[in-house]
Amino acid sequence: MFNAELTTIQQLCYDSLTFKTMQFHKLSAATRLSKIAFIAFVFAAAAVGQNTIKLEVDASQAFRNIVHVRETLSIAGGDFDLFYPKWIPGEHSPTGTINDMVNLYVTNEGKPLEWQRDDVEMFAFHLKASPGVKQIEVNFDDVSQPGTVATANLARIKWNRLLVYQRGVPSDNIAVTASLKLPSGWNYASALTETSKNGDTINFAPTNLTTFIDSPAITGRYFVKIPLSTDPVPVEMDIAGETADSIKATPQTVAAWKNLVRQANLAFGGHHYRHYQFLLTLSDEGGDEGLEHHESSEDGTSEKALSDQLQAADLADLLSHEYSHSWNGKYRRPASLTTPDFEKPMVGDMLWVYEGLTQYMGHVFPARTGMWTPEYFRDQFALTYTDMNLQSGRNWRPLVDTARAVQFTYSSPRAWMNARRRVDYYDEGSLIWLDADVLIRQKSGGKLSLDDFLHKFHGGTGLQGDAATYDLNDIVQTLNSVVAYDWRQFFIERVYNVAKQAPIGGITNGGWKLILNDTPNLAMQVDERSHSFVNELYSIGLIVNSEGGIRDVNRELSAGKAGLSPGMTIRKVNGNEFSLEVFRNAIAATCENANGLTLDVSNGASAETVKIDYRGGLQFPHLVRDGSKPDYLMDIAKARQE
Ligand SMILES: [Zn+2]
Repeated sequence: MFNAELTTIQQLCYDSLTFKTMQFHKLSAATRLSKIAFIAFVFAAAAVGQNTIKLEVDASQAFRNIVHVRETLSIAGGDFDLFYPKWIPGEHSPTGTINDMVNLYVTNEGKPLEWQRDDVEMFAFHLKASPGVKQIEVNFDDVSQPGTVATANLARIKWNRLLVYQRGVPSDNIAVTASLKLPSGWNYASALTETSKNGDTINFAPTNLTTFIDSPAITGRYFVKIPLSTDPVPVEMDIAGETADSIKATPQTVAAWKNLVRQANLAFGGHHYRHYQFLLTLSDEGGDEGLEHHESSEDGTSEKALSDQLQAADLADLLSHEYSHSWNGKYRRPASLTTPDFEKPMVGDMLWVYEGLTQYMGHVFPARTGMWTPEYFRDQFALTYTDMNLQSGRNWRPLVDTARAVQFTYSSPRAWMNARRRVDYYDEGSLIWLDADVLIRQKSGGKLSLDDFLHKFHGGTGLQGDAATYDLNDIVQTLNSVVAYDWRQFFIERVYNVAKQAPIGGITNGGWKLILNDTPNLAMQVDERSHSFVNELYSIGLIVNSEGGIRDVNRELSAGKAGLSPGMTIRKVNGNEFSLEVFRNAIAATCENANGLTLDVSNGASAETVKIDYRGGLQFPHLVRDGSKPDYLMDIAKARQE
């Protein structure tokens, strides 16, 4: 049974701990007031028994993809609704895993309370209780799909999967006191404050539901914690992997991670976390993951990411991206993406800032920290530009529409993506911010940069509670305060209008030219190797997987003009059995082969021989120096000294 008095005493202890970790005496007056207001709210809520959740999560069988939840909720009495989180911050979409919630039982003092799911809102449950009922218990199991959040050796504990709350109550106004039971002997990490540990059960300090859901945990059999910084607050790399070997990081890697913390703080000017945890999971079974939080990030990648060079390049991008989100996305968030609970829909129109600028910093920091070579940095932007520019979808659809349509753009199928466009606010967004960075450098004769915008927009020492939402006007005004320019028109042309060419200003004004040649692009190699396909979008205009299946085609280039389309399978290449190597070698040989390229293709039961009119050989994008202009692009890649 829920005991309000006991909870109040526990909270007194927890809050004194929280005071210490928050360095309360160093906070601004406004921040102190907001903390005091929350603590007062917790006491008041506990005293009257309203808006509190006591959550007991039993993840001791997580490696079997099942986690049990026991939850005690205070309610106002009478009819009420329970809600399962649907709109998950950072996912920008209604991705709540309601289908994985099973064995749902609600009781009051041991007596069953009947629930009925809403006819239309599948995440809402209607319940009836007499006015005197002040507290209920909810039990359910979270059964995850294998390969999504747990494997035999590690698990990601996402609290949004593991609770319901009283519908209609803002998440800032719900106090959560949680415990987590781990698999026997496993270690864990989370941005939450641990108050005590009994065997494998961890007890956490109370916090509000917003912060709680924003503070997931990872747990694993093989686990290591690597301190990256204590200046001025702790930053830690927490790694769970499939094997004892997988979690071993070289001294050079750790040094680069420490450098990332330093470079990010220098670029943004301060930070807004009380401490920060990178929650890194390394598994080929556990699913890729990249989800930002204010004081942590879920960074899920392949098992060999710490030992394989190509995968390490990918990891550098992932860590830099998710870490940047602590500033851009969490501390500063578009008003249209800021919602009071997990039910109100988010509006994605500003994702070209939220994700686009983050994507840009996710490419800048690996270069500034030495995790990417200068060549890799240039190849990344050459690839991004070519990829965006050659999409036929840009002829009908402005960039902002890929963001407004975010509810389905993440799950867009690969087939016909060239015509459809997908989450282009990431990649094309990064080109726009590169363009802006170079423009600021150009107009200020190299004295100012986008970092000056970051300092003004994302800097300072305010905590998350002080976070300010923004809209396009705020972006334009802040940029104007750095360098006077018609920034509104700059964004209208690149984001809001149909733009037949991708933004190339960052490259050309940055002192470089785009070329295509037969030298492999370093950033493409990473992508191709991890996904078992070849990307020939820049030569004949298609992507083919290792079985010969055509995944995408550009109808304006030679393969598309010859009639190839997704759904077809290439069986033979110039009479030889298909393999990715045979296919790529045949494209390379088109330079010398006057007959072009002949493909035997099947489409279901039908088969045909298709002749591709192409003589260009392999085409991979790169940048070459334009000596007539200052090299602003490589200035961007240089580490900041102060
Ligand atoms: Zn992101």
